[in-house]
Amino acid sequence: MTGFARSRLYYLEHGGRLYDSKAVVGHAHQISTGSALAAGNFSGGERTVLPRLEALGFTVRYIPRQDWTRDEIILASALIEPNGWRPLDRIHPEVIELSKLLQGRSLYLLDQRGPDFRTPSSVHRKMADIATSHPEYTGRATNGNRIDRQVLLDFLDQPAEMHARARAIRAALWAEDPGEPLPDADVDDPTANEGGVLLRQHLRRERDPRMRKAKIAQIKRAGLAVACEVCDFDFSKTYGPHGADYIECHHRTPLHVSGPTKTRLQDLALLCSNCHRMIHRAKSWLTVDELHGIVAARR
Ligand SMILES: [Zn+2]
Ligand SMILES: [Zn+2]
Repeated sequence: MTGFARSRLYYLEHGGRLYDSKAVVGHAHQISTGSALAAGNFSGGERTVLPRLEALGFTVRYIPRQDWTRDEIILASALIEPNGWRPLDRIHPEVIELSKLLQGRSLYLLDQRGPDFRTPSSVHRKMADIATSHPEYTGRATNGNRIDRQVLLDFLDQPAEMHARARAIRAALWAEDPGEPLPDADVDDPTANEGGVLLRQHLRRERDPRMRKAKIAQIKRAGLAVACEVCDFDFSKTYGPHGADYIECHHRTPLHVSGPTKTRLQDLALLCSNCHRMIHRAKSWLTVDELHGIVAARR
């Protein structure tokens, strides 16, 4: 690798492969002038250098930076915590395994990923970012961000809980079928940093048609209406037979709080689509009772 700050944004496409644009330009500069180009010399040059490269027939591709999610940072932290917060080497089997897991189960589509996406090298760099957020770290700071620091502090504070969390995330990721489409949006952005894999699995679990059927059957056996527990909306009253037996199931305990558990019917609340979305809308989900309180107070 040349001495450049890594360009995360622009890549040159050549022969079906993507190349880091800064490294390519730096290398070309070195060959043509015999001297290395300092990283600073390139920044700001994107406006002039990239059009020139395009004029030369290179395809310049812009790929948005795909920041690490909180879940991913938790997994990386779980590897370096037992190592005294020192990054593991990029050829360490656990680093390679984590790279495979993150690449295989990522929400980012293939064409949204740069060539360095969650490679063992990028896992190694992320570990270094996290490690330099440590309060006792005295060396040169890297690019650690707010979530890195939060996760690190959580690990220092409650190591056992955070390792349990990491195990739950890992289990949920492996259980995910990468080809399966995301559950439709109960949340504004299911890829949001705070959401993550356990949230997605939670939404999938709520959509399990067998559980929904069983829950609706249970309600009917009890002689109750299939209606929203919060606002009483009954789909069949508004939509007639077309809406009969339609209701959404909401799991009262978020999977990312409980860790992996088996769904029981009493854990499921029946909600209309509006109330269900309102519950998931906040980063920290409302409880069914809380939403009920909000709705009741306005009636
Ligand atoms: Zn409702
Ligand atoms: Zn729900």
